[in-house]
Order: sequence, then C-alpha cells, then structure tokens
Amino acid sequence: MLEGKPSVINQVISLEPFLNTNCKLVIKREDLIHPHISGNKYRKLKYNLINAKKEGFNTLLTFGGAYSNHIAAVASVGKEFGFNTIGVIRGEELIDKVELNATLLFAKKCGMKFLFISRKDYQLKTEKAFIDILKTKFGKFYLIPEGGTNQLAIKGCSEILKKEDLNYDFICASVGTGGTLSGLIKSSKNSQNVIGFSALKGTFQLSEINKYTHKSNFKLLDDYCFGGYAKVNTQLINFMNSFKEVTAIPLDPIYTGKMMFGIIDLIKKGLIKEKSSILCIHTGGLQGIVGMNNILKKKNLPLIK
Ligand SMILES: *Cc1c(COP(=O)(O)O)cnc(C)c1O
Repeated sequence: MLEGKPSVINQVISLEPFLNTNCKLVIKREDLIHPHISGNKYRKLKYNLINAKKEGFNTLLTFGGAYSNHIAAVASVGKEFGFNTIGVIRGEELIDKVELNATLLFAKKCGMKFLFISRKDYQLKTEKAFIDILKTKFGKFYLIPEGGTNQLAIKGCSEILKKEDLNYDFICASVGTGGTLSGLIKSSKNSQNVIGFSALKGTFQLSEINKYTHKSNFKLLDDYCFGGYAKVNTQLINFMNSFKEVTAIPLDPIYTGKMMFGIIDLIKKGLIKEKSSILCIHTGGLQGIVGMNNILKKKNLPLIK
C-alpha cells in the first residue's frame, strides 16, 4: 500500500435535488482508499512512514483530540505497517474511560498507547523542551505533528490530483491545518480556482499554507464552519442525511459535510458561476460519525444516518 498508488474514482453527483444549476460537480472518493486510513490521512502519512522506516524508527508519536481522525489513522498505520504508536491526547477526562470513546477504543485495539495531558500542557506540543520530556518518557520516536502536516505530508497530498483533474474550473476541499489544501494548490494549474472550506473559525491556516506554496490561485473561507470546529446544527445534519439519501455518499460532520454544504451555497449565490466544473475531494473522516452521534443523542439533536 505504501509503495503503490491507490486508484481513486471520480464520481459525478447530480445536484438536482438540492438546486437548479448547470454546474457539474464531481467528487473524488479518497474516503474509499482504506477502511481506516482514509482520505487525506493516508496521503499525509505515506511519505512520513517511508521516511520513518528508512531512518530506522520503530515508534510513531503524535498528538490529537479524543475524536481525531488523525489519531485513528496513525494507530491504524502502526498496526498495518509494524510501528508502535503513542497518542498524546488533549484533555484528561477520558483517562480511564477509553471504552466510552469510539475513536480511542479503535486506536487502543490497534495497539496505540496513550498519554492524556491537560489542555494547558497540550499547548506545549511543539516546544522542544516538552518533546524532550516525551523522549525521556518513551525513548526514541518519529514525531508526527498534530493533524500530520509537514513537508512530507504536503508531498503526499500533491498526489491527490491527477492529470485529468487539471481541467476542472474549481477544486474544493475542507481545511483543518491547511496541509491538504497546500498539496492541492501546489499540484493545481494556475488557471484553476482552489477553494478551502475551513472547519474552524478564522483563516489562520493561511500562514501554514504560505509556508508550503507561493501560488495564489486559492481562497480560504470560514463561512461554512457552523460556528467552529466540531460544531454542528440540525440544518447541517439534515443536509448530510439528505445528501446521503440522494447520492449514497456518506459525509462526515466535521469536514466534508460542511464543505459540501458550502459548495452548494456558493453555487446558489452565484459565487461559483453557472456552467462551472467543480471537483471536490472527499477527504474521509467517516470514523468520527459514531462519536458525533453519541454527542448528538445527549443533546437531543437528529442523528447522522
Ligand atoms: C484531517 C482532515 C481534514 C483536514 O486536513 P488538513 O490537511 O489538516 O487541512 C479534512 N478532512 C478530513 C475528513 C480530515 O480528517
């Protein structure tokens, strides 16, 4: 899997049930790359794993929240490619309740060891002194930053677009750290418009993106973050459910659901012009649905089907 190139299908979506348009929307099904190492997390980890193997590391260490797609993906690659894995988890509330959280339970079954730290300590995650403490505690490890974004991750993400994808007017993807978008921008043609839909409030990812590419054929929007990271409402859930009913394609509530909602709204508003061709990336993230449904149940909100 690491050496090969996964074959990913581009699927045409009929927007008819959602709006009247002659735009063409195609979705790149990166979510189908692997049942657990899906979408952009595979792209971001690929060259890091090759590098870690080459440099003789046996252990991967990374950071994330308790519902993180990245934590699940790192745990899964560890199991599949023979690395020990350590997850440094933000917040201590699940310290002896791992079984209550679907993501952490999955990661644990893959063999991941956890270190739960306070939200305050978590802010030290890029400080050398803090990493040194982790080295004393765990020994030698290959460090993958939170969200997995580094130079090798961008290299992996720049393999998402294929030659035939360079004819679309727009390329759309959801944005966490901005690593995936950076890879897409790098490999896009200058005449294409790349749109990033931030899953978080603000567009602070611009500084990260500008580290990796000097191209400017992109926009980063936070208009469709629904109030912030992992925030959802009934409108979003109902949209995701009807999208799945019509297309049979599941979306995730943190990233791809918000992107798809945003794309349709931009077409409605004429900000994506009629007759445009749009390629959007299904970056995966479906493992998060179980955890989100547990939260929705407690809040008496509709569940993701
Ligand atoms: C992690 C993730 C993203 C964000 O990727 P970045 O490279 O951090 O911007 C987008 N979509 C899904 C499904 C993800 O899991």
